[in-house]
Amino acid sequence: MASTPQPAKKSYFFDKGYKDLGNTIKGAWVRNWESVKNYADNLKDLGDKSAAGKWFFGILNVIAIIAVFVFGSAITAVITVLHIVILLLFMLLVYIGFSCIWLVDRIYLLRNKIFTACHECKEKSLIPTYICPKCGAKHTNLTPGIYGILHRTCNCGEKLPVTFFNGRKELSAECPHCGHALSDRESRPICIPIVGGRSVGKTAFITAFSKEFIENIAPSKSIDIEFYNSRKEDIYREIKQDYDTGSTRMTDRPQDVTQASSVSFSFFAKHPTFTPERLIHVYDIAGEVFTDNNENEVQKQYEYCQGIVLIIDPFAIPSIRYKYEELLEPEDVAGIGKADINEIINSFLNKLREVTGMSDNKMSNVPLAIVISKIDSAGLDQDVGEMAVNKLMRSQPDKFTDYYDTQDYLCRKFLKENDMSSFLSNVTIQFKVNRFFACSAIGHTRDKGKYQPKGVLAPMQWLFGLADNKMGQVWNDISFSKKPTYFDE
Ligand SMILES: [Zn+2]
Ligand SMILES: [Zn+2]
Repeated sequence: MASTPQPAKKSYFFDKGYKDLGNTIKGAWVRNWESVKNYADNLKDLGDKSAAGKWFFGILNVIAIIAVFVFGSAITAVITVLHIVILLLFMLLVYIGFSCIWLVDRIYLLRNKIFTACHECKEKSLIPTYICPKCGAKHTNLTPGIYGILHRTCNCGEKLPVTFFNGRKELSAECPHCGHALSDRESRPICIPIVGGRSVGKTAFITAFSKEFIENIAPSKSIDIEFYNSRKEDIYREIKQDYDTGSTRMTDRPQDVTQASSVSFSFFAKHPTFTPERLIHVYDIAGEVFTDNNENEVQKQYEYCQGIVLIIDPFAIPSIRYKYEELLEPEDVAGIGKADINEIINSFLNKLREVTGMSDNKMSNVPLAIVISKIDSAGLDQDVGEMAVNKLMRSQPDKFTDYYDTQDYLCRKFLKENDMSSFLSNVTIQFKVNRFFACSAIGHTRDKGKYQPKGVLAPMQWLFGLADNKMGQVWNDISFSKKPTYFDE
């Protein structure tokens, strides 16, 4: 119920009602005074009367003046008070009315975790700026209030709905912060940034996940997908093309109009149990953000994201690179992430603190999936991949019963054995909810044919399930234990 003036007509009782009251009161008193004056004038006109007549009419008029002055004023006063009381009563009723509906609207938005995460500037807003379909006026606070309980009338005369249940979300909207057109429809966003240094395989991860989720998972779970807008549809066309050719081009997407260092791939997910529908934003955050600190755009999405995927390129770890370099294809050697992983995690943590103004405590509530990428290369599958997990589960079937807990265990062990203990402890101290995964997004050396992804869905399913119960119930291929169980041993 903010007080920003809106381009709309105020409700009668909060605008014209006052004026009408003022005019009526003024009118009554003026009429009262006028009749007093009339009788006073009569007194002056007694000249032509006889002496008895003067006395008689004189007294009559004086009585009339007193009567009008005393009783007329009293009655006018009573009527004035009555008028004020009635107006106040109606105002109160309208006030209570819009407050109740406002509260219902607010509770609906908050309970359903509905908000707008601008796909361009990444700013969060509860209610976007809605646009009048007739005149284009911007309604920055289209909620029940003094402009109307269920509807408001725009200055142009157009009637606009002001609640979630009578069609507000059908209006076009824009971001209150940057003015970009929004396609949000009071949906519930699930926001997952994919982070990591340059060339660690973030883009390949997003390509593989998006294609697999949209084309395999969604249909099998009766989830309907709709792209956020035509721009996101273009991104998906590129994703499909990259998927089919084995390329990874999204990172160096030069045609990115906004020059933003993070691009969101956004789509709606609809399912009978998703009320409201879900809006999934997957952010591809340019690796430069983590290596050079000159990035201007603030990554607002960290403020509200429900989970983060941190991808690490195992071949950027010196001891692993040293061990395996000769087993890698030349293209893969060229594609190794150059930045030091400890540096990356540090600048990532700094970024998080800076953006969110978060205390370490709040930060630690965001679930973090740490994904070791490129495990198809140089036989890493035997260390952390499916092969290794199955082997360990077969050799110690009593202890290792859960596939993803076993993978988590192997990933942590792998990092520890490769001098990454400080990274490990940094991550586990900062993020209470963390889980390690291993994946291969392309499944083979890049540019050598179609993607054959392995392990890209599990981290996302884990984060989606934590972000949203309903989503977790619908996309339930893997059941994750509450916490990876073997690490502390
Ligand atoms: Zn914006
Ligand atoms: Zn209008």
